Amino acid sequence: MSNSPVQDSYSQILFDGLPEFEPGWVWLVGGGPGDRGLLTLHAVNALRQADAIVYDALVDKALLSFARPDIIVEYAGKRGGRPSSKQKDINLRLIELAKEGKRVLRFKGGDPFIFGRGGEEALQLVEAGVPFRVVPGITAGIGGLCYAGIPATHRDINQSVTFLTGHDHTGEMPTALDWDGIAKGSQVIVMYMAMKHLHGITKKLMDAGRDPEEGAAVICNASTPRQEVLTSTLAHIADDAHNSNMEPPAIVVIGNVVKLRDGLDWLGFANGGKILVSDPLGIKS
Ligand code: SAH
Repeated sequence: MSNSPVQDSYSQILFDGLPEFEPGWVWLVGGGPGDRGLLTLHAVNALRQADAIVYDALVDKALLSFARPDIIVEYAGKRGGRPSSKQKDINLRLIELAKEGKRVLRFKGGDPFIFGRGGEEALQLVEAGVPFRVVPGITAGIGGLCYAGIPATHRDINQSVTFLTGHDHTGEMPTALDWDGIAKGSQVIVMYMAMKHLHGITKKLMDAGRDPEEGAAVICNASTPRQEVLTSTLAHIADDAHNSNMEPPAIVVIGNVVKLRDGLDWLGFANGGKILVSDPLGIKS
């Protein structure tokens, strides 16, 4: 079925002037947190031209339908506690495909340079002499909060946001992090991969003086049809998350911006829910 002239001219406007995917190149592309409406034009432009796609566990497979049929599509997922392709094998595969002259799209969830090993993979490409481009994506810590109706900043609440990961490459709570410093200096804390050690993390924050009544939320499968949001307090979020059986992928937010959700759950509203409170923190009064 051919595209109508209207569609053709529309695609031309959208994609004209965007870069051509040269054979032998690797593009590291961020796919956003899930909702395909959050893909960038650069990402779709890459999908339309790729000869080979190597994608991660957190990429929604439905997004692959933007690609041409009959190309190489390989899964290279890495998820904590589940079978995963070794990072070294992934790097070697990208290099191999590129050296075969393919246009290689390395497709990653969220943003490739945020807790996504995009930096590591790109450095390996540099070492192997493979040219590459990076397409940023909307990271779960930004897009996920937005889809939960939680603004990452609000002028009356915070002037800074901290992104951190709840476990390091050994699977333990990151020892390199100064938890006291974070508790004191980070007004709003957005945590990736933090479900496993949530009890330990919240305890460390409270031990360092953080208010147990501060707002806290878990957002899992953000921006997908399976999105779930749990709101609680710093003192109770770990137990509440455990009891709710919420599963990763999840973002955890600590900070009073969470309390704004009662008034800002735009997605719930779009799905027929009611916005309950217009000024939950009493900021305007
Ligand atoms: N590069 C990705 C992060 C990869 S690390 C990004 O920029 O978003 C994987 C972690 O990201 C998950 O364990 C989870 O903490 C978070 N994450 C990714 N997608 C998510 C989603 N749709 N909903 C909630 N958390 C998500």
